[in-house]
Amino acid sequence: MNAEHAIVTLGFRRWYERQLLESHACLITCFLCTILLAVCLEGAMPRSGMGSTLGALLVAMASAACAVWSWNHYRVVFSRAERYGNVAHCEHCGTYGKFEVERTKAGDRIGEPVLKVRCRHCSHRWSMPDARH
Ligand SMILES: [Zn+2]
Repeated sequence: MNAEHAIVTLGFRRWYERQLLESHACLITCFLCTILLAVCLEGAMPRSGMGSTLGALLVAMASAACAVWSWNHYRVVFSRAERYGNVAHCEHCGTYGKFEVERTKAGDRIGEPVLKVRCRHCSHRWSMPDARH
């Protein structure tokens, strides 16, 4: 589900909350994979048999790949949420996250459309995540 569809379907506040949960789950996964990587590298020391060393190295490589993927996903999801979240309040009345999406158009980033929104409280219009007009 892309950002536009998710924001329209769930509402901004719920979408933003889910983005933060998803990004922080990825951060925790990255942390746990890093610990697993350290444990596997410790277990891959040559004092044990060759089979266990190879197995530990394979698990270490998998945990390193998972850690890198999780870190990158965390950065993408969290930065997207922040770009939208930083302009989610109405400049006119200060209401946060309560707007209706009127139109969308493709943005500069993949999966991040520019939303033309209208405040539910005062009907002020602005664009997200573009700079304010
Ligand atoms: Zn407003």
